[in-house]
Amino acid sequence: RAKEMGRGQFHFFDERLQATVEEQLVLDAALREALLRGDQFRLAYQPQYDLATGDLSGFEALLRWKHPELGEVSPARFIPQAERNGFIVPLGLWVVRTACQQVQTWREAGMPAHLRVSVNVSPVQLRRTGFAEQVRQALAETALQPGALELELTESMLMDEVGDGPRTLNTLVDMGVELAIDDFGTGYSNLGYLRRFQIGRLKIDRSFVARLGGTAHDEAIVRAVVHMAQNLGLRTVAEGVETEAQRELLQRLGCNQGQGFLWHPALAPAACEALWRQA
Ligand code: C2E
Ligand code: MG
Ligand code: MG
Ligand code: MG
Repeated sequence: RAKEMGRGQFHFFDERLQATVEEQLVLDAALREALLRGDQFRLAYQPQYDLATGDLSGFEALLRWKHPELGEVSPARFIPQAERNGFIVPLGLWVVRTACQQVQTWREAGMPAHLRVSVNVSPVQLRRTGFAEQVRQALAETALQPGALELELTESMLMDEVGDGPRTLNTLVDMGVELAIDDFGTGYSNLGYLRRFQIGRLKIDRSFVARLGGTAHDEAIVRAVVHMAQNLGLRTVAEGVETEAQRELLQRLGCNQGQGFLWHPALAPAACEALWRQA
């Protein structure tokens, strides 16, 4: 019986593995075609708010992909695949250029200059030679002031000594581009990189925000992160703020900004424009 069960399990596992490989092949082909066609990707922008004043403070650019047959594919699904097959390099460059273009268009239309746009950067992009030059070129082409662009990195990217990463980050800072740490608190416990690189903002991961109001423990973690950030002269942004209770508590804990469904999900450019015009 044990043998049979074992066989059954093996069969089950085998089928699941098969589905994964197939799914990856389908995604691969679909991504390749989408990159060639170029008309299936768009950026949505999630507004960020100052917790103390309630004012709009910026936008995070989030990549969206609508495939004719697969429908809307979640970035959680296609970004890891694009990182594995290297497509993230051209795709990520498209994201940087499109976001810069959008923000410069808004600025020329009268958007207040303190509103920034944040762009997520993959470790694969950062490790590649030439990323800083690509960003410099995107800024030059769109005539966007470098301080209007913030790049979101993850903790592991700052621990990575391989490739051009560390030098690239310092070049970007010298250019005047802002850096933020995304998903803060989910990565390494060694925080030496906070001294090593000139970071402007910490984005407190939404898993901590979601648990706020639960145990005193979770509140203590957010309090400690905010406290440390204040001492280092960094600003903090809470991700995934969904309730007024969370917003209120985050503000009380001294967190500077927030983004989340309490305000808006990621929106089309026209909806964002309406927001900064009414601000
Ligand atoms: P992230 O950078 O941490 O982005 C925040 C994610 O949280 C977004 O998911 C956003 O839609 C979602 N979110 C915002 N507010 C709330 C909320 O109140 N509740 C909940 N439950 N979720 C909220 P999205 O757009 O699906 O993106 C997932 C991840 O994919 C991003 O996480 C980011 O790591 C990656 N990603 C998205 N766009 C890009 C891109 O252009 N380049 C790269 N390299 N990665 C990207
Ligand atoms: Mg992000
Ligand atoms: Mg991210
Ligand atoms: Mg995040």
